[in-house]
Amino acid sequence: MARTPKAPILALANQKGGVAKTTSVASLGAAFAEAGKRVLLVDLDPQACLTFSLGIDPDTVEASVHDVLVGGTPLADVVHECDDGVHLVPSSIELAGAEAVLLGRPAREYVLQSALDPVRRDYDVIVLDCSPSLGVLTLNALTAATGVIVPMPCEMLSHRGVGQLLDTVADVKKILNKKLRVVGILPTLYDGRSTHAREVLEDVGSRYDLPVLSPPIPKTVRFAEAPAVGRSILATARSSKGAKAYREVAAGLLEQL
Ligand code: ADP
Ligand code: MG
Repeated sequence: MARTPKAPILALANQKGGVAKTTSVASLGAAFAEAGKRVLLVDLDPQACLTFSLGIDPDTVEASVHDVLVGGTPLADVVHECDDGVHLVPSSIELAGAEAVLLGRPAREYVLQSALDPVRRDYDVIVLDCSPSLGVLTLNALTAATGVIVPMPCEMLSHRGVGQLLDTVADVKKILNKKLRVVGILPTLYDGRSTHAREVLEDVGSRYDLPVLSPPIPKTVRFAEAPAVGRSILATARSSKGAKAYREVAAGLLEQL
């Protein structure tokens, strides 16, 4: 009998804050779980917004991704089961100190990859929520990942920095992780009534020569309400436009993974 395959690992990265990385990780994770997949999410941001939004208090969490990366705790020991049907490796504010500690270590970019390896056959898909930087933690995410998704709001200014991110991805591919692939740009915070947003959406794929995931995620107030109850909008606003869009993107991703 064939062994269970290793789960693909998707990193959602963009060194800009506020582009809907965390919202997309929570929503795609919930959509994958709805589709019957075993899902592991990893919060790699010291601000721990993903952890908080999934109903876990990052200030009182017993062990976090920090203990895995810095202390060598087995990753399986810090996994939480969340109401959304996903498993989570939580973050905590301690993670802010991890960059400095890891900098002094050999093979510092490979720590997360090694930690995830023993659990990869326990899941169908693993999704990493990156912090808004291109530091050691994000390099760990890109080194562990099989695919990177770049969430990007459909506004002119949100383009800035994407070139730098893609340069980093190219370097990681060359030196640290040959298997890394850019899955595509995920257009977020999309206002279909705005001509400008439509123009940006049409232009962005050819500008960076990358696939653009479809459909774009509409801007809706529903997203602001979800984190307060520890569930993603796939649960709190099941049939909202935003939830539907994330389900469609997730279905498209499952087809190609
Ligand atoms: P990042 O992780 O990139 O910093 P977040 O996912 O935390 O971004 O999102 C930033 C803010 O935008 C949050 O307040 C979130 O609730 C809001 N947001 C995300 N997606 C949408 C959307 N589709 N419509 C409206 N607000 C959104
Ligand atoms: Mg975030």
